[in-house]
Amino acid sequence: MKFIVVVFLSLGLSACAISQDENPYAKVTIPFDIHKVDGKPVYYIIGSSAVPSAENQGHTSNAGFVVTDEGVVVFDALGTPALGYRMIKEIRRRTNKPIKYVVVSHYHADHIYGLQAFEEHVEDATIIAQEEALGYIGGNRASQGEAANRRLEQRREALFPWVDENTYLVEPDTTFKERYEFELGGYHFELLHMGPAHAPGDSTMYIPELRALFSGDVIYKGRLPFLDSPETNTKQWLKDLKSLTQLQPRPEFIIPGHGVAEQDVEKAIRFTHDYIAYLRQQMGQAVANFVDFETAYENTDWSRYEDVPTFDASNKGNAYRIYLEMEHEQF
Ligand SMILES: [Zn+2]
Repeated sequence: MKFIVVVFLSLGLSACAISQDENPYAKVTIPFDIHKVDGKPVYYIIGSSAVPSAENQGHTSNAGFVVTDEGVVVFDALGTPALGYRMIKEIRRRTNKPIKYVVVSHYHADHIYGLQAFEEHVEDATIIAQEEALGYIGGNRASQGEAANRRLEQRREALFPWVDENTYLVEPDTTFKERYEFELGGYHFELLHMGPAHAPGDSTMYIPELRALFSGDVIYKGRLPFLDSPETNTKQWLKDLKSLTQLQPRPEFIIPGHGVAEQDVEKAIRFTHDYIAYLRQQMGQAVANFVDFETAYENTDWSRYEDVPTFDASNKGNAYRIYLEMEHEQF
């Protein structure tokens, strides 16, 4: 009897500790599961495969964290301050080690708005990103600063109240150019600049001792990549994917920026590679033969991608963006 009372008491206490902790942002009510790589201190969160909307509360990207004896390394911060805060809570449930680093794959809204929660609720975490992040924020390229502002306005409407007038962009504390490496708790964290691919600053994080690769948006698995951005450079992107197949020791687990995690790393890389290569081939042919985009799109066989999530939302835009890119490359 005494045992049962103790169990109830401790359950009551821990529930209390969580509810007393005021959430300063809009409440996250969608499922928010944390997954763990078997036998490794690597955790990850998988967003929904849709485009950001009030329905999914902006939870459309993946993120993760590695727990070491000396502290925690986070990779990407999710698409709203509320989601970032939720991730901090989930980290705190698993470890009381300090959050030392937050590595950002690239400065796009769906991966960075959660940084605000780290800025406001985590002491002394260093935010690291490739230096193009500063361009997005507006530090050295006015046009890109404007794009970031326009995106923020759009999200304040589309994702209200999870993104609202109090949401702001957080700059990295440290930036790097091609490569950045640090060690924590006996593990090496290798950051590699991959872009311009999906975005100018695209970077991956590899932890060789754990054979775990966080790829950001350079690799998608289980949904179509999003190519419809003026910054997208698919020629470089295909080269980047090739260089990832040469990582040593070979990665055994990949957490992509979107879509599902995968143990077969080559398969994940191939999925993204083949889709981009197919678009380049089909649209490149149309451009070379002076076929207009609408006709080219109609005449392309999309059957192998039609059932992939986000096909309806992204495929035509992707194809058009590549059509323009191929025009640019050929003429
Ligand atoms: Zn993304």
